[in-house]
Amino acid sequence: MMYEKSEALYKRAKTLMPGGVNSPVRAFKSVDMTPVFIDRAKGSRTYDVDGNSYIDYVLSFGPLILGHSDDRVVNALTAVAQKGTSFGAPTELENELAELVIERVPSVEMIRMVSSGTEATLAALRLARGFTGRNKILKFEGCYHGHSDSLLIKAGSGVATLGLPDSPGVPEGTAANTITVPYNDEESLTEAFDKFGDDIAAVIMEPVAGNMGVVPPREGYLQFVRDITEKSGTLLIFDEVMTGFRVGYNCAQGHYGITPDLTCLGKVIGGGLPVGAYGGRRDIMEYIAPVGDIYQAGTLSGNPLAMTAGLETLRQLTPESYDHFNKLGDMLEVGLKDIFAKKGQPITVNRAGSMIGFFLTEGPVVDFDSANTSDLELFKHLYQELLKEGVYLPPSQFEGMFLSTSHTEADIQKTVDAFEKALERAVQR
Ligand code: PMP
Repeated sequence: MMYEKSEALYKRAKTLMPGGVNSPVRAFKSVDMTPVFIDRAKGSRTYDVDGNSYIDYVLSFGPLILGHSDDRVVNALTAVAQKGTSFGAPTELENELAELVIERVPSVEMIRMVSSGTEATLAALRLARGFTGRNKILKFEGCYHGHSDSLLIKAGSGVATLGLPDSPGVPEGTAANTITVPYNDEESLTEAFDKFGDDIAAVIMEPVAGNMGVVPPREGYLQFVRDITEKSGTLLIFDEVMTGFRVGYNCAQGHYGITPDLTCLGKVIGGGLPVGAYGGRRDIMEYIAPVGDIYQAGTLSGNPLAMTAGLETLRQLTPESYDHFNKLGDMLEVGLKDIFAKKGQPITVNRAGSMIGFFLTEGPVVDFDSANTSDLELFKHLYQELLKEGVYLPPSQFEGMFLSTSHTEADIQKTVDAFEKALERAVQR
């Protein structure tokens, strides 16, 4: 059949790596399929090892905002690699990427490069704790900030209680320092601050949630969070690992006009190579070693290849790129709503710049609980049928779709047509 080589490779992979993969969602578990193994990709298209091609809305889970294998990025990488791949010493490229990020991201006055989003959030929390001298942190249900211990936490029972480990191996003592409240809910946040305010070092949030599907903040919510943190001397950390340069030219913080104290970045700033970063107020960042005494380091931090991919990617984005994303997003939203209405099936579409999420429910989807009202069984069948139609979505209801500057109106039209055929078959299964 059409996935023969992928199936053979997956069989072998499962003997070599847990679940055959190096990151769990790639195993296609929640859509109950064998993952497709990718051979190559260009622009908006991905080709698997069996020769099937797909319009790609995964884009490596966000980084490839120019599409795959962009010529300028690849040419620059080739040239830099000839000069050496890593030195463990400063390079001019680090200054250039730092300058560019500082110029574009309102909250960032100083930055430190790391190698993943997980490292960025982990370091930002240590910094917030060291700076404030407080122990607790607050996060929102359904937001993901990487896999460090204090962030792999689910809500305890009841509102504004201390967290419980979300994974074996996370110590209860660590979890107890993480408070979890529902997203977009002012009352629970107020309650948490009434109870624990004096000991909350930081609130960490995705300014647009992207790890429960796409869930934008309610009007005024980010301002509310900014105000309540400021009042209690708590640092506000925007985790823009996903939203950074996707929601707007100046990230989500520029788009919504709310400036956090610290910002975490990743994905797009590495243009498809391993990069993360955290930055923010200069007076806070100067607590980091070797200026201050809060320790954080990395063998490959600021790696020349990674800096180059990030630089060449960010340099090609313009305010007009976001007009393009909005135009394609409008088209996709209208197309999907039309198809589902014709079939009498509910759908909710949430969008922010180049991030698009759809849920198979009447909605509105404003938090983790409402995201969970989506019809997961139908999503699974729809997913499988869409793949056969040549549309490659993130293999989970709780991941958003991403657009690139390479995606065209023709791609969107093909995608809408594919949805129509796929839905027709999915509802019959
Ligand atoms: N924060 C957010 C908002 C993310 O979406 C992710 C990854 N999806 C991370 C942090 C972790 O980044 P990484 O996978 O690079 O460690």
